[in-house]
Amino acid sequence: MNKLQLYNSLTGKKEEFVSIVPNHVGLYTCGPTVYNYAHIGNLRTYIFNDLLVRALTYFGYQVKRVMNVTDVGHLTGDGDMGMDKVEKASAEKNMTAWELSEFYLKAFKSDMARLNLLPPTVWEKATDTVPEQISLISQLEEKGLTYKTSDGIYFDTKKFPEYGQMSSLRDSGIIEGARVDVNPERKNPRDFALWKFNISGKKRAMEWDSPWGIGFPGWHIECSAISLKHLGAPFDIHTGAIDHKEIHHPNEIAQTEVATGRKMANYWLHAGFLNAEKEEKMAKSAGNFLTLQTLIDKGYDPLAYKLYTYSSHWRQTIAFSWEALDASSKALEKLYGFVSGNWPNLTNLSNWSNLANFFEKKFANALADDLNMPKVMAVVWELVNESKKNGYQSQAVQKLLEWDKVLGLNLDQDDFVKEIPQEAKKLIAQRDRARASKNYALADSLRKQLEALGVKVQDK
Ligand code: AMP
Ligand code: ZN
Repeated sequence: MNKLQLYNSLTGKKEEFVSIVPNHVGLYTCGPTVYNYAHIGNLRTYIFNDLLVRALTYFGYQVKRVMNVTDVGHLTGDGDMGMDKVEKASAEKNMTAWELSEFYLKAFKSDMARLNLLPPTVWEKATDTVPEQISLISQLEEKGLTYKTSDGIYFDTKKFPEYGQMSSLRDSGIIEGARVDVNPERKNPRDFALWKFNISGKKRAMEWDSPWGIGFPGWHIECSAISLKHLGAPFDIHTGAIDHKEIHHPNEIAQTEVATGRKMANYWLHAGFLNAEKEEKMAKSAGNFLTLQTLIDKGYDPLAYKLYTYSSHWRQTIAFSWEALDASSKALEKLYGFVSGNWPNLTNLSNWSNLANFFEKKFANALADDLNMPKVMAVVWELVNESKKNGYQSQAVQKLLEWDKVLGLNLDQDDFVKEIPQEAKKLIAQRDRARASKNYALADSLRKQLEALGVKVQDK
């Protein structure tokens, strides 16, 4: 079997993956901040996380995956200043912080389901682990690594000499970035809040008593507390997107490693960003973001977006483009058409073990090479095209259905794939798009064409 190689930010190298316990993987994923819908950039990161879990399973590992939900403590400003994002959005939307975070967590889970992403083994909300977070801060305090300012308890990064090894930013970069909104009482620019006092004078919907006074936890401490609770230290793999490599993850490492005296995680995987068109950063706070629902409203299958993300390596930046999404949409339709038109049955599955092995090896090699999805998809299309030339389409489909455990493209989905002809599926998509752009005359004519093919459409 091929050995899985992964690019590890901790060493800056592609390395063979070796788990702590044979055949088992402990995996931690930084989860969403639930104050708005996830944008398709966030979702790219979760598609990558899902792919990683599926690939580890393919290579024979049993994966325990823990994901936190940030429902408190993530502030709008740099340098641990500004308002809590959940608190701010709840005031704007006239909901309590509890209602708002529950609403967006539900929306996030629904996006995950629509993208056919496997749920983590453990979901854990930050607000459900405040006692564990307080206890961790107390341990840091006992070790002399904290200090108090007028607005909170801070981690003294200068007392942890290994601080920020993985990060490429230097202190000056942090000062620049944080200049507008920085707590002048902090001793060093990289120090970060562990506990924030409620200094607003008003009662917050989310606040807790602590040895340091009423307040709420800083954003970074939840990930240390939650990963320690469910995975211990060290665990195997920690994931997030590239922005976390600079601040959030170095802070998690500092907290866990000082508190336990042990390494936090062996492999740190940071996924590339999906930028908005014209290379702008896509961010919930910038408001320039596309949601999965926007794509669906425009007539795209969520899985076409998933396939789109496979066209780049997970570490590369993607600049979003509608043309590229259209191309992935067509590719997905082609794949569905191929599967439904060549559905295997027992009689047409004659022995083809040599060829099957040849393709399996190619697929495994591409996947083992740091989850190189452009290479993996090239193997998929090679199999499709070669099988068409040489008449082994049914066998190819059988293999594709096996590989779909990794691809997660719902190739085996349902009667839709098997019974609706491809031509009709295209017309349905065109009609959805016509309706989305309010071109009802075109939608009507497409409905008639569908009826001529024996397909009746009903709008829900
Ligand atoms: P948040 O909900 O802001 O906490 O972010 C959830 C995840 O999405 C984190 O792992 C972020 O690093 C990641 N993320 C944020 N923006 C992008 C983007 N434009 N492209 C890819 N991932 C992103
Ligand atoms: Zn985290």
